[in-house]
This record gives sequence, C-alpha cells and structure tokens, in this order.
Amino acid sequence: MIAIPGITGIIVEKKNMKYSITNTSAYNHPERYQNLNMISGICPFCNHSSGFKVNGYKTSDTVPLRCDNCQKNVIWDYSESIVLPVAKVDSLKNLPPEIDRYYQESLNCIAALAPNGSATLFRKLIHQVGIHYGVATKDDKNSIMGIVEKLQSAGHINQKLVEALRRVKDLGNDGAHVNENEPTMDQIHIIKKLIDSFLQATVLQDENIAHYDKTKSD
Ligand SMILES: [Zn+2]
Repeated sequence: MIAIPGITGIIVEKKNMKYSITNTSAYNHPERYQNLNMISGICPFCNHSSGFKVNGYKTSDTVPLRCDNCQKNVIWDYSESIVLPVAKVDSLKNLPPEIDRYYQESLNCIAALAPNGSATLFRKLIHQVGIHYGVATKDDKNSIMGIVEKLQSAGHINQKLVEALRRVKDLGNDGAHVNENEPTMDQIHIIKKLIDSFLQATVLQDENIAHYDKTKSD
C-alpha cells in the first residue's frame, strides 16, 4: 500500500473480507487514484493479499480495479466498500468427493452471498457424512439429529461436536423453510467453522491416521 502523507489508511471489513482503503478524502473521486493502490486486501481470483489500482472509468458507485498480482479486474463498490466478486472463503482440502461436493457448493453460496443455500447444503453434508460412516442411507427416515446421535454412539464424534451439529441443523432448517429466522451471512461464517471442525475431527482425521500408518509400514 502506498502511503499518502498526512492521511491514515482505514480498514473496512465486509462479508468477512478485510480491505484497507488508502485515502478517504478522495473516496468519491477514484480517478485520482491512477497508479496508486486504491485498496489492498485478498484478491477473489488469485487469493493473494494484493494492491488494487484503478483500471477504468467509474460509473455511479463502482470503479474497475486491477490486482497487482494476477492483473485481473475486480469491481470496487466504494459506497458499500465491497469487492465483487466476493473472494472465496478458505476451503478444507482432501475431503472424500461425495462430501466435498456439498461442501464446495456451500462455499460457492457463501461467495454468492446466498446464506439460505449455504445453510441447507451444510445440513445436507451432515447426512452425507452419516452415509460415509454407514449410519445413514439415502432417503433416510431418520432426522438429521437421529443421524448425529448414531455418529456419536458409533464413536465418530463427541458431545461437543453433537452440540455444534445441532446448531448447523437448526440453521439448515431455517434456510429450508420460511419462518421468523432468516440465516445471515455472519451466522453462516460461524456455522462454516463448526462444519470445518467436524470434518477435521472425522473424515480428515481418518486420512491423517491412515497416512501416518502408511509411513510405518513402508
Ligand atoms: Zn489477483
């Protein structure tokens, strides 16, 4: 970030993505930022922390900016302080494909700012983990909490994860039905952390153990 004398950069945080703005005094005049970084933060294309320079004319409240790292264009909405497209959130790697399918689709909903879609997909993912461990079937008559209790009694998860998954299930229900509680993006970011800890303690831990055992037998 290029410092402009006498002016302090400010940090804005929207949709869990932090961007720092170089100069607030010329905020409504992005044309003055030619060859200066207008903002810096995570690029939605290359996922690097990068500076962004003005790369075109502003229209109403938006201006095209170019990432210093990958040279791709993003749109900066300077009245909302948001970069479009929204950068994708951190993703777990090496999940079993049938589980990863729902996980990635949910992350795509987060990037599209679609909390109802994300909430219902995380709920569906719990069902799929139940199938993975043989305690649930497709079109299972058991409720999601019924599947969660079976995961616990089979020793795959502890009581804390049961409580975490109860919250994922509740928000998933809110996402699937019209009621008083519409899921918010803030709630989705918390639910994503609960799902990540569940997957790390189960399917990813299985892989870590298998990987370790392989180093012993080789
Ligand atoms: Zn980039």
